[in-house]
Amino acid sequence: MRKPRLDHIGIAVRSIEEAGLFRELGLTVEHVEIVETQKVKTAFIPVGDANLELLEPTSADSPIAKFIEKRGEGIHHICLRVESIDEQLANLKGKGYRLVNESAVPGAHGCRVAFLHPAAGNGVLIELSEKHEEHVTAPEDDLEAIL
Ligand code: ZN
Repeated sequence: MRKPRLDHIGIAVRSIEEAGLFRELGLTVEHVEIVETQKVKTAFIPVGDANLELLEPTSADSPIAKFIEKRGEGIHHICLRVESIDEQLANLKGKGYRLVNESAVPGAHGCRVAFLHPAAGNGVLIELSEKHEEHVTAPEDDLEAIL
């Protein structure tokens, strides 16, 4: 199996619009997606082979709004791209690691994703993502579940 690669770093922000530093550094937002199920607006900013994923809450009861309320803006999660998310989850479950998602759920860009509990990742919320290379972005993807 191929080794996992860094896919993106999720950053909780109050406003994507006002997160000007990354633009100032010459980076550009490539993909914006509203995820109704998570009450979050996401903006992907490619940086080399990986991305920054800005996460802006779209309502006060969004998990991201709660995160910002408790801890302020900042790094929310790190996402690793894996070859087989099912195999990785089965292996971790078998070894007793705490998982947020017992099985993969639909994520941004048509990926399948699962979150591991921060207790499993030395205090860091880790997202695993299996990419579907053949996926072509369609307008209806904008409402797909993510995070
Ligand atoms: Zn993410």
